[in-house]
Amino acid sequence: MTRTAERPFTSVSFEQYLSEKKLMGSHCNTCNKDYLPPRAICPNCHSDQLTWVEFSGKGKLAAFTSIYIAPTAMIEAGYGRDNPYFAGVVELDEGVKISAQILGMDAKTPEEVKIDTPLQVEFVERGESDTKKTFLAFRAV
Ligand SMILES: [Zn+2]
Repeated sequence: MTRTAERPFTSVSFEQYLSEKKLMGSHCNTCNKDYLPPRAICPNCHSDQLTWVEFSGKGKLAAFTSIYIAPTAMIEAGYGRDNPYFAGVVELDEGVKISAQILGMDAKTPEEVKIDTPLQVEFVERGESDTKKTFLAFRAV
């Protein structure tokens, strides 16, 4: 595992890594638990001895819901009442869970979606140059 220059364990750092197409969380060196998004203090043992770790981005679908009432960023991306999307909880191979948009499945037919569908991370860029942001998503493989 490569150690990069230490960034603070914040959502800003997490998003910076996303823009570099890296799914990064924190690992507690005291009790060996992993956190995604990263935590600066371990909620399990209260240690502050955490380091960045990169996750494989492979996992499976643990839960999902179709979103018809979209937040602003998703409306700007073309989603909404007529074009719903899936938000899901993904269980990564490393055992941690994270919520993200789920791609590659039709949100209008949720009955066809199967729990445990294998997923692969995808980094989705939205917005124009100044407001460009990278969002975390997973796609059915
Ligand atoms: Zn810990």
